[in-house]
Amino acid sequence: MSDPKKLFIKTYGCQMNVYDSERMAEALGGQGYVETQSVEDADMILLNTCHIREKAAEKVYSELGRFKGLKAAKPDLKIGVAGCVAQAEGEEIMRRQPLVDLVVGPQSYHRLPELEAKARAGEKALDTDFPEEDKFEKLKSRPKAKRGPTAFLTVQEGCDKFCAFCVVPYTRGAEVSRPADRILREANELVERGVREITLLGQNVNAYHGAGPNGDMTLAGLIWELDKIDGLERIRFTTSHPNDMSDDLIEAHGTCAKLMPYLHLPVQAGSDKILKRMNRSHTAESYLRLIERIRAARPDILMSGDFIVGFPEETEADFQATLDLVEEVRYGYAYSFKYSTRPGTPAAERAQVDPAEADDRLHRLQAVITRHQREIQDSMVGREVSVLFEKPGRLPGQMVGKSEYLHAVHVQDSGLEAGQITRVRIVASGANSLAGERV
Ligand code: SAM
Ligand code: SF4
Repeated sequence: MSDPKKLFIKTYGCQMNVYDSERMAEALGGQGYVETQSVEDADMILLNTCHIREKAAEKVYSELGRFKGLKAAKPDLKIGVAGCVAQAEGEEIMRRQPLVDLVVGPQSYHRLPELEAKARAGEKALDTDFPEEDKFEKLKSRPKAKRGPTAFLTVQEGCDKFCAFCVVPYTRGAEVSRPADRILREANELVERGVREITLLGQNVNAYHGAGPNGDMTLAGLIWELDKIDGLERIRFTTSHPNDMSDDLIEAHGTCAKLMPYLHLPVQAGSDKILKRMNRSHTAESYLRLIERIRAARPDILMSGDFIVGFPEETEADFQATLDLVEEVRYGYAYSFKYSTRPGTPAAERAQVDPAEADDRLHRLQAVITRHQREIQDSMVGREVSVLFEKPGRLPGQMVGKSEYLHAVHVQDSGLEAGQITRVRIVASGANSLAGERV
């Protein structure tokens, strides 16, 4: 038997890409590939790319440039680009970087085996269609081997919201929800393989409305179905849009014990003028009232968010409104970005903020976010949390896992195993993690 071919996948961007990379590796498994962590060993290199900000695409091109030597030394090496840069740039990638053999958009992964065969035959292989068929159903069925205790599961893709800064509606296409029975089947299979925590993924996951047995099911309905799976102990979901935070979902945060007290709910900005110009269709006030309702349902919930600073026409007063909102919410985690012009989106044509001013705002916002994050993490010291252990830590006999609030927790205890959920008392708060002792 010939040796298996080796596949090296590098994933950029969001968790949805992490899930897609897993599924692509599985699909290529049927073509005789096994994954390798070493780019030098690879027979195929696949970059699963992100197009959300400008630098991300440029990083892909410079990464591709670095493979020149490898390809010269191993002419059989195939190089592919997947993900949102592949979708947005299409053939342009092969023009700009001729060493690329294969380009596949996020909706065409199920065609990867055919594309790979075409590339192996020496042809350029390109597919950036938005096909009708369900790619998840067409993908090779998932393996049965044991795996780690946490998994992502994409339930919804695409977006119809068209925020003025964002490429997602163009690269991932219109919003589509997967039917509930397929998600539940996949979740059951993951649990059989050792998974104890599932994070449901979607660009607007709380807009989920997949077909269920009695018509469309909401995300809360899906969560309650997942709640019935024995052995599945924790459910999370990300990313949510404020406008799709329905009453049943808020209520589930108070009543579903498996639903973890953590919510990523991006607001982007605190100024109503900017929110309107972003086409966000919510105000700062409506967002704050929404958080009040969520906290009334689940008082200890840890909030996380996304922010864009330096959006076109943002003044210092607008930026102050963002700082005020952050002070009011106090996020346990938050991701903040400098506005990045995306050609083809409405905001790209507008008056841009001076880049130095935008940098300064980003630093000021991050200082406030970091202070809150620190205070919230430090306030865990002395408390008891439940930790799902995932893997050994850096020190011998140490295990690391995540608390309900998604804080990384490490415990010195050689009796702990990956997949175990244990009560832990937090004894110290470090730079990026908490230290605890088994109760
Ligand atoms: N659907 C999610 C929502 O509406 O909150 C966000 C998905 S997007 C992939 C992740 C984050 O990237 C956004 O929340 C936004 O903060 C950031 N982002 C998107 N486009 C951007 C741009 N042009 N410049 C800077 N940040 C951007
Ligand atoms: Fe992009 Fe999210 Fe807005 Fe959709 S809702 S356009 S994914 S930022």
